Amino acid sequence: MADKEFDFSKYVASIPDFPEPGVIFRDISPLMADGKAYSEATDRITNFAKARGTEMICGPEARGFIVGCPVANQLGVGFAPARKKGKLPRETVSVKFQLEYGEAELFMHKDAVKPGQKVLIVDDLLATGGTVAATIDLVEQLGGIVVGAAFLIELEDLHGRDKMKGYDIFSLLKY
Ligand code: AMP
Repeated sequence: MADKEFDFSKYVASIPDFPEPGVIFRDISPLMADGKAYSEATDRITNFAKARGTEMICGPEARGFIVGCPVANQLGVGFAPARKKGKLPRETVSVKFQLEYGEAELFMHKDAVKPGQKVLIVDDLLATGGTVAATIDLVEQLGGIVVGAAFLIELEDLHGRDKMKGYDIFSLLKY
């Protein structure tokens, strides 16, 4: 049973100048280390997913797995990983996207999502929105219907939400 008053911010460590000067890294390890906080967090996302008729969870490597897999389990649906180059052994679809510095590429198996399946994207953190926009692109290449995207943390200054106009976005904590 989710506790309405639960203070998730106590379970996020903020590390200035990591991995480079000027960045405040929001580390979710303390939340993962606490059974109550971890399950409260994934319960909230599960409720969001349920309300949207989610039939599959998709999460990008690697922290999208940490947050998305428990949600898939709680819902009793499958999990489709979006992975970095060279990790998936069968036929894939892919998308290239811009990171703050340089370019990245994500892949999904061609049969990871069925056409018409309702998919919720889950990741730990929404920053510029590049990663989630790429993951949405992959799911849509496979014919999936993206019902929304859910995060533990949203960095509002970076306006990632603006990249996802028309998609339903949920975040537990905003900085
Ligand atoms: P973006 O594509 O810019 O929205 O970045 C989102 C991805 O980068 C997420 O998968 C996060 O794990 C990671 N990320 C970006 N900025 C931070 C940050 N300040 N602290 C922790 N993780 C971050």
